[in-house]
Amino acid sequence: MQKGNIGVTTENIFPVIKKFLYSDHEIFLREIVSNAVDATQKLKTYAAKGDFKGEMGDLTVHVSLDKDKGTLTVSDRGIGMTEEEIDKYINQIAFSGANDFLDKYKNDANAIIGHFGLGFYSSFMVAKKVEILTRSYKDDAKAVKWSCDGSPAYEIEECDKQDRGTDIVLYIDDDCKEFLEKNKIQELLTKYCRFLPIPVAFGKKTEWKDGKQVDTDEDNVINDTTPLWTRKPTDLKEEDYKKFYRDLYPMADEPLFWIHLNVDYPFHLTGVLYFPKIKNNIDAHRNKIQLYCNQVYVTDQVDNIVPDFLTLLHGVIDSPDIPLNVSRSYLQSDANVKKISTYITKKVSDRLQSIFKSDRKDFEAKWDDLKIFMHYGMLSEPDFYDRAKAFALFKDVDGKYFTYDEYRDLIKANQTDKDGNLVYLYASNKEEQYSYIETARDRGYSVLLMDGELDSPLVGMLEQKFEKSRFSRVDGDTIDRLIAKDAPKESALSAEESEGLSTVFSTQLPKLEKTEFHVEVANLGETAAPIVITQSEYMRRMKEMSRLQAGMSFYGEMPDMYSVVLNADHRLIKRVLDDAKAHTADALQPVEGEIRGLKARHAALEQAQQKKKADEITQADHDEMKKCNDDIAAQEEKRKQILADYAAGDSTVLQLIDLALLQNGLLKGQALNRFLKRSVDLI
Ligand code: ADP
Repeated sequence: MQKGNIGVTTENIFPVIKKFLYSDHEIFLREIVSNAVDATQKLKTYAAKGDFKGEMGDLTVHVSLDKDKGTLTVSDRGIGMTEEEIDKYINQIAFSGANDFLDKYKNDANAIIGHFGLGFYSSFMVAKKVEILTRSYKDDAKAVKWSCDGSPAYEIEECDKQDRGTDIVLYIDDDCKEFLEKNKIQELLTKYCRFLPIPVAFGKKTEWKDGKQVDTDEDNVINDTTPLWTRKPTDLKEEDYKKFYRDLYPMADEPLFWIHLNVDYPFHLTGVLYFPKIKNNIDAHRNKIQLYCNQVYVTDQVDNIVPDFLTLLHGVIDSPDIPLNVSRSYLQSDANVKKISTYITKKVSDRLQSIFKSDRKDFEAKWDDLKIFMHYGMLSEPDFYDRAKAFALFKDVDGKYFTYDEYRDLIKANQTDKDGNLVYLYASNKEEQYSYIETARDRGYSVLLMDGELDSPLVGMLEQKFEKSRFSRVDGDTIDRLIAKDAPKESALSAEESEGLSTVFSTQLPKLEKTEFHVEVANLGETAAPIVITQSEYMRRMKEMSRLQAGMSFYGEMPDMYSVVLNADHRLIKRVLDDAKAHTADALQPVEGEIRGLKARHAALEQAQQKKKADEITQADHDEMKKCNDDIAAQEEKRKQILADYAAGDSTVLQLIDLALLQNGLLKGQALNRFLKRSVDLI
């Protein structure tokens, strides 16, 4: 028997392995099983080259548990190791410069593991003792047994293993007993080894017999050795892709479509990416792209490898060229990783474009599900925007689709305002904004439907990208102001008439929480609605953005602000004005006379004060001015009250207001009930 110490650096490495990798210690199984698979593949390569002439036999890798002994064993029939090879590959894990490297990366266990290829040693995360029983494929090789109890000391001796290959026996630590549970191992094998290229068996398949589960003779093979992405696209049918998707994500809906990736240069990458149907936010984050390295599962954290917007995709990426074990910050600056990300973005846009070109109908049919990716990508990746703008679609309220160019040409003639700006009208809810849409259509305008999650930031971006263009929601203002074609008409009403009319209506508007109304009078034409309620585009967008972005809660806290525009051209508004004038004239006359007198007095006082220097103005002057102001306010209040009292009894005013509120979904509860009663009375 020979005794010795494992290469110098292990004294540093063992504590690192135990301590830093604790959270991830289940990966030991992946490391050990993939070593077994590698050894088996090497044997196949040697056989193919004629370097191995013996009988290959069954090459299945076996994973087994022995609860009594407390061991987990991984056995392969691969190339095995000679004593010299054990010494070289297992004992001498140190190599030149190792100490320097360790020093530099001593806080980054992943970097160390990745750099040294310490896969095998990760077994010490869960085992108090590890044995290797191995016999090389070489003709005259002797079987050897290596064992180590986790200290840098190991033992190596000859043993009587008949069969070619390697058994790795882990004596599981007392605090890691879960790795002796069948279910746990089954789960880990499914997670990490599901697509390994050599069959891996874990125990036997079971069946129900006499009321209990019993083992059959058949190996329980846990992997698919030729997963879909390793096969040629020409050999695959639609159903194969769908089935593979179902295998990966049993709970998900059928995917929209997929992209089979296959690159050899300047890096190796294969995989299949699926565009999923996303129903809600939770769905979007539950299923993730899985990253493999030569069919070994690595992670589903692909953040730096795949551009952000594509992390919403599903599927598999397999690349030996992604530095899998190194730290995140390193990944970000890695040139290969950048190339891969660019490649994937390009592939995705190429594929989308080709579907658009070859089958526009299908593309349109899927657009509603697809647009979340498109918009996310266009918003976050300038490169993607540049490609996607050729086939990104607008959808109008009738469900017709247009490319950006097609749509611009469509609306150019009719929707350019007097300043030469092209105005894109849109609705975010077809039902709620129905009457505004109709008003716009009466003018021959087209209205887009923008009801997606990302439509409001998209609109903001498109306004930057499109020249001399503006997006306005149909209810953002009265239609003539949304697309102003000539200078606004002079109002036929006097300032006092407008003021009085506004007061009549504003005093009857409901007091709603976090809602403010501002009443104004405008000339919208005889055929337009008598009252239009609009919501400023700017404020609404700010509020929408505040929901998506942190740091904008200020806007979120603001009330909803509506403009209530009274159409002075409409006969009903005219009638209200005439009636109000007729019924309040007597009561208003003295008040208005009083106001006029007070205002004249106010002006006189002001003039007198202006002549004096600041220090000549006496307290009495101040008091007098204040009293005059208070008197005016009191009379204004009286005037307002007279108009309010009148308005409260004018069912036309109340009815018009309620109709406008109703149209905007603002009439609720008691107010709605009163409206219904009044409507019945009016009939
Ligand atoms: P890596 O697999 O990254 O090279 P490991 O520490 O996992 O690093 O393994 C070190 C070496 O030990 C391998 O490169 C291989 O030569 C040898 N080895 C490990 N496991 C086996 C096995 N089951 N059969 C044959 N050789 C093995």
